Amino acid sequence: MIDLGIDLGGTNIAAGLVDSSFRLMAKASVPTGLPKTPEEIGDAIRNLAAGLLEENGLDFSQVGSVGIGIPGTVNKAEGMVEYANNLEFNNVPFVKMMSRRFSCPVFAENDAKAAAWGEYLAGAGKGCKSMVAVTLGTGVGGGIIFDGKIWDGCNGAAGELGHMVIEQGGRLCTCGRRGCLEAYASAAALVKRGQEEAGKHPDSLLALWEAQGSRLDGQRIFKAAQQKDEAAHKVIEEFLWYLAEGIANIVNIFQPEVICIGGGLSGAGDRLLIPLKEKIEPFVHSRNAKINTRIRLAELGNDAGLIGAAVLGKDSL
Ligand SMILES: [Zn+2]
Repeated sequence: MIDLGIDLGGTNIAAGLVDSSFRLMAKASVPTGLPKTPEEIGDAIRNLAAGLLEENGLDFSQVGSVGIGIPGTVNKAEGMVEYANNLEFNNVPFVKMMSRRFSCPVFAENDAKAAAWGEYLAGAGKGCKSMVAVTLGTGVGGGIIFDGKIWDGCNGAAGELGHMVIEQGGRLCTCGRRGCLEAYASAAALVKRGQEEAGKHPDSLLALWEAQGSRLDGQRIFKAAQQKDEAAHKVIEEFLWYLAEGIANIVNIFQPEVICIGGGLSGAGDRLLIPLKEKIEPFVHSRNAKINTRIRLAELGNDAGLIGAAVLGKDSL
């Protein structure tokens, strides 16, 4: 038996076939093509899955379960997508709708939590009992896993690590509050600060690259800092200190075996990880303990979401 994972995004829908060892065997994607109704999205998912199975010489009778990662709040008990801003879903009974299209069990979960689940089972958290994932993308996402189970809270909404306030009255966040980690440690926040500093320092590498028409992104700012560009170095140091505040909070509250740093910015690799670990260390209360939380980079990239979604039915292994 194989499991089918779906990553439903505002831009693309991806599907992946995952075997019993949590390996991604094949994947495919199509543009989401919004605006679409939930029923139309359901049909698009079914068609994508059918095409992927056919390409691989398989059919629906060989699929054990279908799992769908959704960018929104998912009430798993009721199979309801309570809110997904990008998709314009409000209280959509999506699991029931999808169950009509597949003969096997269907599961749904928030996409950041599905990706965390994938990393936990097959990537940076493999073999661990507890892991917290922090995803540094356009926003800052999260997923908390204890003893082989995704922690959803009493209503499915737990894990919003990006919206912990680290600077009271600080920068305005997309959620409406001020000073959230997301307003300081997301890729969008980093790029915004890079652009501000490039504007103030026309002789900086950042300004030079912008003038040459290259769009600043998080990884470029890391690269400029490594090349000793002062403006970039300042932006990266500030970014890392804020991120360290947030991650140290997570360590001190949960003391998980692993904190997995994923999302686009994790592509900066050791340029991110090594200075981040140094900055976190003095904030951690357990620094004299024999066992300490390991901070690791995510290993599966975008595949984490597909693998995690495919094996949602294996929650509580
Ligand atoms: Zn916020």
